[in-house]
Amino acid sequence: MGATNTFLLLLLFKTCLSQNLYHLFKQINEETGNFSTIAANLAWESSINPGNPELPARSAVYQKNRLIWQHNTCDKLATLHNRQSLNSTQQRQYYLLCRGPEFTYGETRITSNLYEELQSIYSDAEICIPSDSNTSSNNLTAVEDAILNYLSNVKQFFGYKYGDSNLFAAKIAVNRNIQEKEMLCLKGEVDFEKMMAFSRNEEVLRWLWQVWREKIGPPMKEPYRKLVAIENRAARRNGYSDIGASWRDELEVPMLRQLCRHLYEEVKPLYRLLHGVMRFYLRRFYGNIVPERGAIPAHLLGNLWSQNWEPLVDLLLPQTIDLDESIEKLNWTVLHMVRRAEDFYQSMGLPAMTDKFWRESVFARENSDTRCHGTAADMFQDGDFRLLYCSGTSKEDFYVLHHELGHIQYYMSYEHQPPIFRQANTALHETIGDTIMYGVLTPQHLNRLGLINDSLLYTMNVEQTDTPMIQDNNVIYDNKECRSEKDKDFEKTETKDSKETINDVFEATNDKDYLVMKKLKADYLPFTKLNENIKDEKFDVPPPKIFEDKDISTDSVLLLKTALNKIPQIPFSLLIDEYRWKYFEGSLRRENRDFWAMARELQGIAPPTVRGEEYFDVGAKFHVPDNTPYIRYFLSSFLQHQLFEKLCKAAVFGRRSVDGDVPDTISLTRCDIYGSKAAGKILKDFMSRGHSQHWREILRATLGEDDISAAALNRYYRPLYELLEKFVRAHRVPIGW
Ligand SMILES: [Zn+2]
Repeated sequence: MGATNTFLLLLLFKTCLSQNLYHLFKQINEETGNFSTIAANLAWESSINPGNPELPARSAVYQKNRLIWQHNTCDKLATLHNRQSLNSTQQRQYYLLCRGPEFTYGETRITSNLYEELQSIYSDAEICIPSDSNTSSNNLTAVEDAILNYLSNVKQFFGYKYGDSNLFAAKIAVNRNIQEKEMLCLKGEVDFEKMMAFSRNEEVLRWLWQVWREKIGPPMKEPYRKLVAIENRAARRNGYSDIGASWRDELEVPMLRQLCRHLYEEVKPLYRLLHGVMRFYLRRFYGNIVPERGAIPAHLLGNLWSQNWEPLVDLLLPQTIDLDESIEKLNWTVLHMVRRAEDFYQSMGLPAMTDKFWRESVFARENSDTRCHGTAADMFQDGDFRLLYCSGTSKEDFYVLHHELGHIQYYMSYEHQPPIFRQANTALHETIGDTIMYGVLTPQHLNRLGLINDSLLYTMNVEQTDTPMIQDNNVIYDNKECRSEKDKDFEKTETKDSKETINDVFEATNDKDYLVMKKLKADYLPFTKLNENIKDEKFDVPPPKIFEDKDISTDSVLLLKTALNKIPQIPFSLLIDEYRWKYFEGSLRRENRDFWAMARELQGIAPPTVRGEEYFDVGAKFHVPDNTPYIRYFLSSFLQHQLFEKLCKAAVFGRRSVDGDVPDTISLTRCDIYGSKAAGKILKDFMSRGHSQHWREILRATLGEDDISAAALNRYYRPLYELLEKFVRAHRVPIGW
């Protein structure tokens, strides 16, 4: 009897305890949800209108309340955890809620100010050059003169035209000139990025690359150092060795550093091939400034950070598929593009965007202060998911929209979870939209969208099809003809009032934008205007084609473009966080020189000028002043191929579970997942778990895989790998650096 009584008492006690715990966690989740709503609103408002004077006070109140609450809650939960009273779900919620750095209120106030300082250094960066013809050109340096000439050229070719999204810098230049009559200005990363992608003038590129880093890096050095000191202190308070260890813990990947290095080594053969081939073509274009072997000058890779080489595709391929041009021909607006991205997800059985999404999202700059770096926001209120992205209508914008909608699909699919689980491993979160994009970039879907025509869809060898979608970038348009076309436009519009004139010129020039762009680029082609760096006569003949005629196909062209866009991101994203992990743990010897030593090792690039310790070049990337971890993008580069392969199999077989690989007869680059409900089910299952499980369990349950691996990525690029190898052998292209 005695034993039974004790047993019953114990059972009663346990039942009471578990009921109490149930109510406790219910309450904690409710409170978490409330805090998340406030935080989301503050973040949204500070992006839309960072100058709002009420924001700092409101955010201070929020931080104080949240900090006190979190401190008390985590203390309480730690006691329960130590008594082993928590079940596995509760343990996971405790872990997710209470991990990370532990700030004091004073520290959060200081870090808020430091964030603000760092972000405004980055967002407000503006470089203006006096352009008034009366200004004595003695005040300008030679490079400023060069860029001014270049911008004037751009402006001249485009005329006084508004609404052009391809060339923001020129638009700004035109606008500024009308208003102030004496300045040409480049503002923010948008302008710089577009110019870096567009220009082929080495001097201009060097100037852009350098001036961006001069403007951003040095003023950031000190506030960044202070920020890291506080973050480290807060991380140590919660048991981490430094803030880098806390960031790595967030991903729940054991031995993350080793795994990253392993993945990098797996993808390196492909990267080395791409790097060697790109160096070969850059050398043919720019001459001896590009070494035959060794690191590529960082400013020549078509991007401020050398992380996306797609703008250089025309150096490799005289014939390419220009999706920007196709989008322009179809007159797509940003709204068209969002609708098409939404449609892709919906075709797979995923939900449409909510009414609040369409009401609250921002697709264009509302005022000059709006911080436009793409953001998908979960407002933690019924159906309130929003997008903030000042979008243009390029193929890259189309990609960003799919990417951000991937985040929103994620938010929607775990909306039913308790608030602490309404998040996900950040590497998984970054994966959805990019996975979908591989489906978008299949010839079938591009054709469905009207971006490539039927002959490109079915005829593998594009050389034999005379199609307007394939543009020959080597055709040099006669200068005189171009100008007389332009003069005609002005004649036509002279007699009308000024408002009409602008519209008319816009309409009249719209169709030949592409020709004008090509003409501008052609001015810098060494075959028409000999580059001064070129001394060797062998550079005077056009370089060999990257693909033999029989290998040129819609598929190989698209795959090369995708590779140029995606593969260089991999070493770059590893660099950004490997460097910061070292910075955080204090293991760098010389801050800036070490950055370039690592960039040389991982990316195979070198700065065009000496980079001393007066600079802080890592700060030139948005995520550093924004203090966002970056390794999630590195991991996602691999995960998105693992997920895409799984979706591909489901689409091909029409069911979820399929053993074995994709059949050899199905090319991954032609795997059309659009409309596949079976693939959609996998995606939904993958996302709806939110943070309720460890990522490895999610991978096992939905993909049947145990780890993050480079195998699927390498399978996807295999056809390109073989073509590049063939080219390297045929032309004895040096590989490595
Ligand atoms: Zn993202």
